[in-house]
Amino acid sequence: MAYFESRRVAGRHFLQLPGPSNVPDRVLRAIDNPTMDHRGPDFGTFTRRLLEKIRFVFKTQGPVVIYPASGTGAWEAALVNTLSPGDRVVMCETGWFATLWREMAERLGLRPEFLPGDWRRGADPAAIEERLRADRGHEIKAVCVVHNETSTGATSRIAEVRAAIDAAGHPALLLVDTISGLASMDYRHDEWGVDVTVAGSQKGLMLPPGLSFNAISAKALKAHETARLPRSFWDWGPMLKANATGYFPYTPATNLLYGLDAALDMLAEEGLENVFARHDRHAEATRRAVRHWGLEIQCADPRHYSSVLTAVRLPEGHSADALRAIILEKFNMSLGNGLGQLKDRVFRIGHLGDFGDLQLIGTLAGVEMGLALAGVPHRPGGVQAAMEFLKGNR
Ligand SMILES: *Cc1c(COP(=O)(O)O)cnc(C)c1O
Repeated sequence: MAYFESRRVAGRHFLQLPGPSNVPDRVLRAIDNPTMDHRGPDFGTFTRRLLEKIRFVFKTQGPVVIYPASGTGAWEAALVNTLSPGDRVVMCETGWFATLWREMAERLGLRPEFLPGDWRRGADPAAIEERLRADRGHEIKAVCVVHNETSTGATSRIAEVRAAIDAAGHPALLLVDTISGLASMDYRHDEWGVDVTVAGSQKGLMLPPGLSFNAISAKALKAHETARLPRSFWDWGPMLKANATGYFPYTPATNLLYGLDAALDMLAEEGLENVFARHDRHAEATRRAVRHWGLEIQCADPRHYSSVLTAVRLPEGHSADALRAIILEKFNMSLGNGLGQLKDRVFRIGHLGDFGDLQLIGTLAGVEMGLALAGVPHRPGGVQAAMEFLKGNR
C-alpha cells in the first residue's frame, strides 16, 4: 500500500517500473538503523570497506565515487569532470534518456553531435566508428552511450562500441550510462575500457532512489586534471581525497549507504552471473507472453533486447496510459509509462532487481487482465506461455 494512500488496498503493491524497483526487506532493514556520525571513526571504517566492496559490480579495480543524488547528478559529474567548454562529444540517440543526457551536455556548454536512432535499437558501433574516423583532428573528446535505454528496452553493446573507437584509432573518452543496467545485465568497466561509468541506486541495485555513482578509469582521472567545465559539488578531486580515509567532502546519504552495503552482500551471495541469468530468463518469459498476446515489442533487434525491462507497443488507436491506469486501479500494480515520443504509445514492464518467478507471473497476469478490461485486442494465454517457458527452464 502506498504511504499516502487514503483507501486501504490489501496485499503488496506491485512496483513493476524499470526503476525504482522493489526494495527487498533486508535492504529496508539495513536502512532502518540509527544515522551515525559521518565524521566519526566507525563511519570511516564502514565507508572504506564499502568503497572497496562496490567495485565488483562495476568489474573495476579503479575508484568508484558515490553521490547523494539521483542518476542525473552522476551524468553531470561524468561530463563536468572530464570535459571543457565547447568540446565536441558524440552521443547516440537510443531514446529518451540519451536525449536528456544530450540536452544536459548542451546546457553545460558542450557541443554534442547526436548520431540519429529510431528508438528501437541500441547504439550503432559502425556509425560511431565512421564518425570518429572522419574526425582527423581529434576534436571529439568523448563518446557517450546509454547501455540500457530504459525508455525503449534496448541495450547498446558496449564492448562493440569500445572496439569501434579502437578501430578508428581515436583517443575520445568513453562515457557510459548504465543507470538501469548495472547489477542486472553483464557490465565490465575495466575490460570494456569504459572511462566513466554512470550508475544509480534505484534500479538493479535494489535501493530506493538517492544514490548515484561514477566509476572512473585512469584515463578519465588524467582528463580531470585539465578539464575546464565549472564543477564544485560534483568535483572528483575533493571526493577522492576524502574517500581515501573513508569520508566525504559533504554529508553523505548515510542510511542509503547502509542499504547499499546490504544490497551488495545480496548480489555477492546470489552471484552476479546468476543475477544476470535470472534477469535474462525473466525477460525471455516476458517476451513470450507479449508475442503470444500478439503485441509488438518496442526493441526491434533481438540482439539488443534488454533483460531489465520490456517496452510493449499498443495497437494504433489504443492508449497505453489508459491501460496502465486500469491496471493500477484494479490490480494495484504500477507499470512504466511511455517517455518522449513514446508517450501513451508503449507501456514498460520492469523485471529487474529483487524479483522471482511468481512475481513475474503475477505481473504478467495483471497485464493480461488489464488488456482485457481496457479492450486492447490480444490473444489470451500469454501468462501460460510465460509459465511454460519458466518451468521448462529451471
Ligand atoms: C533512470 C535513468 C536515468 C535517470 O536517473 P534519475 O535517477 O531519474 O536521475 C538516466 N538514464 C537511464 C538509462 C535511466 O534508466
